[in-house]
Amino acid sequence: MDSTPDGDPAGRSDPADELSTLARQLRAQLARHASGGAWAASGGASARPERGSLPDAPELDRPSGRPTLPQIRAEVGECTRCKLHSTRRSIVFGVGADDAPLMFVGEAPGEQEDKRGEPFVGPAGELLDKMIEAMGWTRQTVYINNILMCRPPGNRNPQPDEVAQCRPFLDARIATIAPRVIVALGRPAANTLLGTDAPISSLRGRFHDRHGVKVMPTFHPAYLLREPDRKRDAWSDLKLVIAELERLGIQPPRPPRG
Ligand code: URA
Repeated sequence: MDSTPDGDPAGRSDPADELSTLARQLRAQLARHASGGAWAASGGASARPERGSLPDAPELDRPSGRPTLPQIRAEVGECTRCKLHSTRRSIVFGVGADDAPLMFVGEAPGEQEDKRGEPFVGPAGELLDKMIEAMGWTRQTVYINNILMCRPPGNRNPQPDEVAQCRPFLDARIATIAPRVIVALGRPAANTLLGTDAPISSLRGRFHDRHGVKVMPTFHPAYLLREPDRKRDAWSDLKLVIAELERLGIQPPRPPRG
């Protein structure tokens, strides 16, 4: 089995029953998603949406009303839903706190991530770690994941059919974690989260609404490694995120730098 930093469902009380219920309900949800079904938004823009009440949340009748991250991972299984399964080494799920107020969404695993089964562990990941630490947070206290869980060959851009298959699981992670702010790293992440085709330069620098959750698009760390002059712009985006979290009464574990 691939390395899955979010763990597996072992240790829960009635795993067989729960998992089969989860699988049935998540499948129904995914089918609705695939057919373009709409969900009603609930809650106000400023209140933290109740977990599982976001429009894309799987509808479960478990007491908490939402699947856990290990349950979502279990539903992903040894995925063969898109063509990337034939070239990937690992399914790269996500890493971090399951109640993180701050989530980062990147594009897709690269070579290192595919090898190690964890998002953002290559050169771009090292820079992302520095960005997160400068904000006063850590890899363990935020949540880091990608639009795609499998590496596209040669690190090419995600293709629409791949995004369509993987996206319900991103939506499910977002609904379960219920972050207050999402940082979209690069154009594919921002476009997928916001349903737009606009370039990152026209999206970054201001918050966008995604079903009541604030999304800040910014430059992808891999781009920042190639264009270090843009780090200043990225930091100004992240400072807006720090300020928004503070406005919501959410303090990072350590004071932000700068
Ligand atoms: N780039 C991404 O978008 N995600 C990763 O996990 C690594 C590099």
